[in-house]
Amino acid sequence: MSDLKIKDIVIVGGGTAGWMVAAGLSRLVNDKDINIRLIESEAIGTVGVGEATIPHINYYNRLLGLDENDFVKKTNATFKLGIEFVNWGKLGESYIHPFGDYGIPMEGLRFHHFWHRFKQTDPQSSVDDYCLQVLAAKEGKFQRPDMSYKNSPLKSITYAFQFDASLYAKFMREFSEARGVTRTEGKITDVQQDPETGHVKSVTLENGDIYAGDLFIDCSGFRGLLIEQTLKTGYEDWSAMLPCDRAVARASQSTGAPSPYTRATAKSAGWQWRIPLQSRVGNGHVYCSEYMSDDEALESLNADIDGPPISDPNFLRFKTGIRKKPWNKNVISLGLAAGFLEPLESTSIHLIQTAVARLMASFPDKNFAQSNIDYYNERTLLEYEQVRDFLILHYYATEREDTPFWQYCKNMEIPDTLKARIALYKDNARLYRHDNEIFGETSWFAVMHGQGILPKTYHPLANSLPENELKARMAQLKQVTEACLDQMPTHQSFIDEFCKAN
Ligand code: FAD
Repeated sequence: MSDLKIKDIVIVGGGTAGWMVAAGLSRLVNDKDINIRLIESEAIGTVGVGEATIPHINYYNRLLGLDENDFVKKTNATFKLGIEFVNWGKLGESYIHPFGDYGIPMEGLRFHHFWHRFKQTDPQSSVDDYCLQVLAAKEGKFQRPDMSYKNSPLKSITYAFQFDASLYAKFMREFSEARGVTRTEGKITDVQQDPETGHVKSVTLENGDIYAGDLFIDCSGFRGLLIEQTLKTGYEDWSAMLPCDRAVARASQSTGAPSPYTRATAKSAGWQWRIPLQSRVGNGHVYCSEYMSDDEALESLNADIDGPPISDPNFLRFKTGIRKKPWNKNVISLGLAAGFLEPLESTSIHLIQTAVARLMASFPDKNFAQSNIDYYNERTLLEYEQVRDFLILHYYATEREDTPFWQYCKNMEIPDTLKARIALYKDNARLYRHDNEIFGETSWFAVMHGQGILPKTYHPLANSLPENELKARMAQLKQVTEACLDQMPTHQSFIDEFCKAN
């Protein structure tokens, strides 16, 4: 058995993906016989974007045992309560996709069924009034959950971070090196494969050094040095349903206190992000090259940045989709090498994190059992498809037809899985629930409702509550949410008190 043990793991690439997996493995692989080496090339560099996250990153941070205040300081981070979507459903409209729930379940049903009923008698009612995260985001407030309460929205504040991608990779590198990961600087120029199995045996650097390994983790970014250039794994292209294929990113000076949310503003052929950090603001324009040139994209970005630019524009090209087999032979691809889903819901870092968890669950021996690999790939594909469907929803559920790009999106063919979800909500406000899906019912509701999908009716049992009782409960919930909001400090004062970057 012992000869079958994986002893040498080689991680190719030191971007966010490479250092996240190095950190995860160095924490989780408690075996002194297993060596972890990461090879990266400063000359090639990293994509240098990827600054917004979703709340699941807190699990990773806890797993690594990070001190959160230290992490926030060292990555120049701010806190994130959700994403504001501007001009998606209709020009001039906006909504927030919050990380926390609306209201509370009543009579065993989700809150939004009762709210739909209530709105018939109070047409001015806004569902946002029942979500502390939405209200706090709008008012620029933040605090961590206060566990001293028994039943209060303050007890269940869920949040993520907005941080500097290069500082995050540095932070993960320090963590990994302190736990025994060996870093090797150099450009890989050649890859050797076993002539019989096709497995990768070793990589050769420009200076001639050769590094052999049992398991290779390809974090080499879009090029997919091992998974694609060497193993020719193939790519499933989803760009017909998510047609944006370019981005231009540029940082700007902060012009005020950082907002505790990311903003995604729909433009004529794509959308623009705004991610406020402690020290600066990250901006970028994601667009579709069929409908917009690079010059037009940059011009539009420059016009919308609200502070002086402090970096040159960084142009990026991508194709949305996934490797046909994210794990092929003895190579597991992670991050951009595995696939790409645009950053509309800030999911890429999360997908790296779940891949590390799956890798640990399916950790192989040198036999590389095919059933193990197939299972890993099946679960990875399912996760990507679920995120893909959620992203498509933002483009498809629109009333915009003001440009050829939006006309295309509104009328494009979408996956049956998404059609079924939309039909279920439209018919009676019900939402699909899949175990372990990244985006739960609250997220799907937020986007469907925010983009103007109106259900014909709601759950019939929401009618069982007497009208006066419903009114009283709605009034009380609204009042409790407002009272909680009043107690919260501003986002800036929270940062100043606990985790201001130096
Ligand atoms: P890279 O950063 O490209 O790193 C690749 C590494 O491989 C580098 O270290 C490079 O030196 C090394 N390498 C490559 N070839 C060789 C070689 N021959 N020899 C040696 N080393 C080599 N994600 C989010 O979660 N939130 C966001 O808000 C977000 N925004 C994004 C915006 C855009 C426009 C894009 C394109 C992506 C965004 N992402 C976001 C995704 C996120 O940036 C990536 O998932 C993340 O940075 C991981 O990148 P990576 O490490 O896979 O690749």
